[in-house]
Amino acid sequence: MTITLHGIGIGGGIAIGRAHLVSHTDLEVAHYEITQAEVAGEIARFDQAVRATRKELEQLWGSIPENAPTELGAFLSLHVMLLNDHTISREPRDIIVERRCNAEWALKLQQDRLLEQFDVIEEEYLRERRNDVIQVVDRLFKALDGHDGEHYVPPEDSKERVLIAHDLSPADMALFKGADFAAFLTDVGGPTSHTAILARSLDIPSVLALHHARQLIREDETIIVDGTAGVAIIDPSETILAEYRKRQTGLAAERKKLQSIKRTAAATRDGVAIELHANIETPGDVAQALGNGATGVGLYRSEFLFLGRDDLPDEEEQYRAYRSVLEGMKGAPVTIRTVDLGRDKMPKWADEEAVSAPNPALGLTGVRLCLAEPQLFRTQLRALLRAGRHGKLKLLVPMLASLAEVKQVRLHVEQAREELREDGIEFADDVEVGGMIEVPGAALTVSHLLGKLDFVSIGTNDLIQYTLAVDRGDDAVSHLYDPFHPAVLHLIGHVIRTADRAGVPVSVCGEMAGDARMTRLLLALGLRRFSMHPAQLLNVKQIVLKSDLSKLAPLAREIEQAPDADRVREILASLDG
Ligand code: PEP
Ligand code: MG
Repeated sequence: MTITLHGIGIGGGIAIGRAHLVSHTDLEVAHYEITQAEVAGEIARFDQAVRATRKELEQLWGSIPENAPTELGAFLSLHVMLLNDHTISREPRDIIVERRCNAEWALKLQQDRLLEQFDVIEEEYLRERRNDVIQVVDRLFKALDGHDGEHYVPPEDSKERVLIAHDLSPADMALFKGADFAAFLTDVGGPTSHTAILARSLDIPSVLALHHARQLIREDETIIVDGTAGVAIIDPSETILAEYRKRQTGLAAERKKLQSIKRTAAATRDGVAIELHANIETPGDVAQALGNGATGVGLYRSEFLFLGRDDLPDEEEQYRAYRSVLEGMKGAPVTIRTVDLGRDKMPKWADEEAVSAPNPALGLTGVRLCLAEPQLFRTQLRALLRAGRHGKLKLLVPMLASLAEVKQVRLHVEQAREELREDGIEFADDVEVGGMIEVPGAALTVSHLLGKLDFVSIGTNDLIQYTLAVDRGDDAVSHLYDPFHPAVLHLIGHVIRTADRAGVPVSVCGEMAGDARMTRLLLALGLRRFSMHPAQLLNVKQIVLKSDLSKLAPLAREIEQAPDADRVREILASLDG
């Protein structure tokens, strides 16, 4: 039976493929021995996980929205039944006693046993309940919090597969970057969460915040993913499939056509040059940036080098990564952001305190973390300054909130230079230092920060989150996360105007810069430098080529003074280019 699910569409295009559900049980499970004295505690931990999972399932069952597909209730009640069955909720306890192993391992052994039994069942309906066992055990694993995704091996036919997960952390996403999935779907996630950003960087259609995808989709089922409309169609009919195949062909033709402007200089109809740079997450993304005509890297999120691993990258490893990006970009400017960890990008080695901070988005994150961990920061600065000899490097500092932080960063850069000089190591002396404006306090006081910064880049993803008090990763409030909100536009306009007046280059590197629906709005506000995911570059360029600044610029005041987002949308809709 065909089921259609609606969520937040990320990444344009349409994909058709077979479902591949990743659960925590696909990921490597930790295995360790425990002492006799620890057995009782381990059993208690397992029991607690069972209780938490039961409560979670019952709550989900009790809060099924009216418009949810009817199958959802049936699946959830089946899951509660499975969880209550002694094979799942009791037998792992015996394994803990017999083998003196951790609860995760006992659960894994029991799951393997159960799945083997399912594999030999001939009756199709019963055999398919295998997935339900996986999903219930997956929830238990989560409750035990004992998974380790480092050793996940994607299926060989991943190109034809739609990856389906409850949630993917930025670290998980980095892991999937190596695999070539046709599309992916998640139950949770906001439009500018780092998961969404990475999805965009994979350049495949994806839909987030589907809520019940993992419950409703079976392994191997055919799925259509429309990343533009934010729709996933499960088990489509032949007629629907044919329609989407037609649309897919049309989109591929449009994409090909866009390639014709790859080498065209980005300039408006009235001849104003516009800089279009790329956002990247790994050195491997350089090829895609160049392939889409980027004339520089406007944001390299260096923290991805630090995620999903137990250790810290040392100076040498960092140097090699930065140098490879600089060399790859062949002399074009490369803006490398110093590590922006914390919030939803928590490294494995972060201590308990950091992980359980009461409000990570307002805690030790971005530049604050760097200043609190001077050794980590200094190592990165040394690697960056050394790599600077191999291209045109610019440093970008995230999450600045005050002039004091800018001054401290400058001091660290100076000290890193001094150290390198003393060590007799060659480095670039002319590296510019810029700051991200993504905290409202920094936007409002930007005139003071500009004196100590060589350039600024507006991080609209965080600026929107902090200005409107809306968590960018929480889909429950994603309808309130509105880039058209006049407060946001006012701050962006203020930063651009102030930087222009001070003669300091200003760019936007948040997701707004890559959204072709916002290109004319940003041009109207005076923006001339954009940095975005490479896959968005030609779409934005196409709008730039059709825009006329003499018509857009006079709208700036009206846009910034609009009483609400609807009025801004009306103004934009009235434009014909
Ligand atoms: C931003 O906040 O807009 C930004 C570009 O940084 P990130 O998305 O990595 O937080
Ligand atoms: Mg940010």
